[in-house]
Amino acid sequence: MKAHDGMYIGGEWRPAAGRERIEVVNPADEKIIGGVPAGTAEDVDEAVRAARAAFPGWAATPPAERGALIGALRDVLIARKREIAETITAELGCPLGFSEMIHAGAPIGVASSFAELAASYAFEERIGNSTVLLEPVGVVGAITPWNYPLHQIVAKVAPALAAGCTLVLKPAEETPLTAQLFAEAVHEAGIPAGVFNLVTGTGPVAGQALAAHEGVDLVSFTGSTAVGKQIGATAGAAVKRVALELGGKSANVILPGADLAKAVEVGVGHVMNNSGQSCNALTRMLVHRDQHEEAVSLAAAAVAAYPSGDPLDAATRIGPVINAKQRDRVRGYIVKGVEEGARLVAGGPDAPHERGYFIAPTVFADVTPEMTIAQEEIFGPVLSILPYEDEDDALRIANGTVYGLGGAVWAADQETAVAFARRMDTGQVDINGGRFNLLAPFGGYKQSGVGRELGPHGLAEYLQTKSLQF
Ligand code: NAD
Repeated sequence: MKAHDGMYIGGEWRPAAGRERIEVVNPADEKIIGGVPAGTAEDVDEAVRAARAAFPGWAATPPAERGALIGALRDVLIARKREIAETITAELGCPLGFSEMIHAGAPIGVASSFAELAASYAFEERIGNSTVLLEPVGVVGAITPWNYPLHQIVAKVAPALAAGCTLVLKPAEETPLTAQLFAEAVHEAGIPAGVFNLVTGTGPVAGQALAAHEGVDLVSFTGSTAVGKQIGATAGAAVKRVALELGGKSANVILPGADLAKAVEVGVGHVMNNSGQSCNALTRMLVHRDQHEEAVSLAAAAVAAYPSGDPLDAATRIGPVINAKQRDRVRGYIVKGVEEGARLVAGGPDAPHERGYFIAPTVFADVTPEMTIAQEEIFGPVLSILPYEDEDDALRIANGTVYGLGGAVWAADQETAVAFARRMDTGQVDINGGRFNLLAPFGGYKQSGVGRELGPHGLAEYLQTKSLQF
């Protein structure tokens, strides 16, 4: 895999300040596929200076021109779609078809939406005798995870650029090659030097330096709740804006009268796609106790249609998880599920292949709400099916975790499903299989985060307001 031996700062690839490196491993075969420099506080400082220097010019660029440049970036992402998909499959291990459609496809849609929004957004409004100006916050420190390596980057960079902010990105250490490809795309699109800067490195060194840097006005973080809490505390102490997109433990509530077969099939797919490494994965399936056994058989049959293996093989529907640590963590949860009395109906802790960090698609039945597997985010292909007594019981279970990111409700009719969804403590709910909407605000209630991404709500995160009275 192609890799740059430097940081993208001020519109060029510059040598890193230190000598430490990060090796990139293909999780499907455990082979090293490349390496990038591990940035230090010095690299971060240089990148923040470049972003700060570029800020006045970019903020003063007319929004329609900013939009046109985001459009040019989208066009590069389209032109290099195959290369992006191959890089993501090599770093993340997910099947190539999924990489092309979702990992490379969604960011094109997101970039497109912000190209349009930049041009059409009302950056000024009248309220009584005041004109309210919506101005860019300033320099953004963006810290992203590996699970949707390009989407998470574009979901921060595109709205920040649309708003008139400049950025420094610190991507996940597991997927830095995708981030370097993105920096190349930014360059190719002709976005002015210093507007976007990339520092690869580890979380505790480069990430921490970026979150704490006094030249950063807003920290936008996507990742684990544990690190999010730390970043929130650092930002709070400096009275700095912060946006946190964190973990989830989303409920897929199937009410009596719903199309059970469809609800189970879609629900299983939601968990197995990306090897269960989606923050909004519907990992808790709530089914009325009278339909529990039927749902269990349907789910066991549905996971059988997810063969794991080589991500480049077109027959493969599920790849490995990201690394050995994550594989061991997921296995630990499966063992704990069995120990705590859940009934294993598919998969289990045994490795399905000799090489690669694979986990067999796993389904647990008879899961009770207080079990560890029903409370903690597993981030692997593990589905828990929980029986409930009645609607109130289902609601109590659905709302009974510290998280509130995604969710789904299936019912005989839309009205019943919407009535239930209104009572859920969560940021997103899919009604009877409603599709993901790239313009709808995405983010969490409770410990799933602070702030929203995507669409006009996502753009607003990068703006601050000034009132002029006349
Ligand atoms: P992580 O929190 O370990 O890492 C995320 C990013 O933070 C990486 O770039 C990492 O280098 C950096 N980081 C780590 N420690 C840091 C520190 N002390 N200071 C600053 N930066 C630091 O999470 P992960 O394991 O890479 O990602 C998986 C988690 O992300 C899951 O919990 C998942 O639910 C969550 N996630 C949430 C969303 C969402 O939109 N809500 C989306 C994707 C992933």
